[in-house]
Amino acid sequence: MSTEKKVRVRFAPSPTGGLHLGGVRTVLFNYLFAKSHGGQFILRIEDTDQTRYVAGAEEYINTCLKWCGLEPDESPEKGGNYGPYRQSERKSRYKGFAEQLVADGYAYYAFDTPEELDAQRKSVPNFKYSHENRNQLRNSLTIDEAEVSSLIASGAPYVIRIKMPINETVSFDDMIRGNVSFDTSLVDDKVLLKADGMPTYHLAVVVDDYQMKITHAFRGEEWLPSAPVHVLLWEYLGWSEEMPQWAHFPLILKPDGHGKLSKRDGDRLGFPVYAMNWKDPQTGILTQGFKELGFLPEAFINMLALLGWNDGTEQELFSLQELANKFTIDRISKAGAKFDFEKAKWFNHEWIKRLDNADLGPYIKRLLAAHEVVVEDEKYLYSVLSLVKDRLIFMDDFWEQAAFFFVRPANYDLDAIQKKWNDEKTDFFQSIIPQLEAFEPWRTEELEHFYKLAIQSSGLKLGELMLPFRVMLVGGKYGPHVFDIASLLGRDETIARMKKGLAAILA
Ligand code: GLU
Repeated sequence: MSTEKKVRVRFAPSPTGGLHLGGVRTVLFNYLFAKSHGGQFILRIEDTDQTRYVAGAEEYINTCLKWCGLEPDESPEKGGNYGPYRQSERKSRYKGFAEQLVADGYAYYAFDTPEELDAQRKSVPNFKYSHENRNQLRNSLTIDEAEVSSLIASGAPYVIRIKMPINETVSFDDMIRGNVSFDTSLVDDKVLLKADGMPTYHLAVVVDDYQMKITHAFRGEEWLPSAPVHVLLWEYLGWSEEMPQWAHFPLILKPDGHGKLSKRDGDRLGFPVYAMNWKDPQTGILTQGFKELGFLPEAFINMLALLGWNDGTEQELFSLQELANKFTIDRISKAGAKFDFEKAKWFNHEWIKRLDNADLGPYIKRLLAAHEVVVEDEKYLYSVLSLVKDRLIFMDDFWEQAAFFFVRPANYDLDAIQKKWNDEKTDFFQSIIPQLEAFEPWRTEELEHFYKLAIQSSGLKLGELMLPFRVMLVGGKYGPHVFDIASLLGRDETIARMKKGLAAILA
């Protein structure tokens, strides 16, 4: 009787810099697949290429996943039964497999020095180490066994390369693309073990997926060309039965659909591509992330899910829980998904409206604190938030839209008002201010009614007295319903602002 294997998926980034939104989408799809199958989601850090190692990148990945709410079940930070979860700490596990591949005739030692290979690259256009030239290069296929042994014994540097078969077809079933096949003659003899004893990604990914009992290996489409090497390694190492099921996710494309979205496109077109701010430790250059631009994690995740996936209906807004309930791999499209920043903003706007004030509160408090405003009255803060919520695209827009609720205006947008000002308007305000001082109850509807009646009896036009009132309270010609503003500001503050505003108009 065969028992279903427990689903185990992994996200396996190399810690080389900021986390691209494509990477986060890979995390998300892995996470959703794991959750929807009651499985485990593993984070493995693929840091075998020491030359590309960037300080801080791993911590940054951890923080990003936390911000997105996509925390792994096993990871370097969290541990687990299949650790270590950093490839550099697994170094000793790989060499034996590379040597086994050599012994079985699936791989070979290559002694070519970097200078020799450079010379080849210079003289042969598009040089690739492959079946076409391996018999003319310095490796254990061309050097006799005794010399190979003595070279190794003498400590001569070498790498181990896979010996790609000639004219064979490697094929596998991709859960998104269906049957995919490759002509092995077109694939070069990738290095499996480097001269420093470290495995390359190709060997490490297979050994680790095997040892960590990964059941499904999902990654971006850019890894598809490497798949034949990996499939062959699974076979050559005798682990075909355990090979995970593959899925290669469609690329996230530039807004015009021409090619993969890169960080440079973001810089060029003015939108973030990284999940969070990333400061390059070498250059000190700061790249802005979605988080710092004022995206909610709920919106960021929702937007990413819809880049290449849908549930078959018109529904676009999904919480993480809903996504986990509805997610299936077969609804991921093969075609690349165009990134649309306007649409991303729409998701954020919708999520700001959807979330409770209590959820948005901490963010808003931080934002206000950054502007040196400390809010003691939470109820007041939430009332303001309810009033301006549907005007926010980014959370930080709150300041622009609502600062006047916390700070009395210092300047007034008076141009249009002063041009049309006359003594009747001065009289109107001078008479309504003392009336408001005694007016009850201080509530939106009653205030509106009273104010409008007063205009009527003054014989002036309604439109002419609404804008000055707004500018007195707000400083500018924007904001929610003016009587809502007055009601929230309260009597004392409203009257103080009216007096100050009137003085500014008359100055
Ligand atoms: N280390 C690879 C990366 O940086 C992982 C690819 C894979 O998932 O196999 O994306």
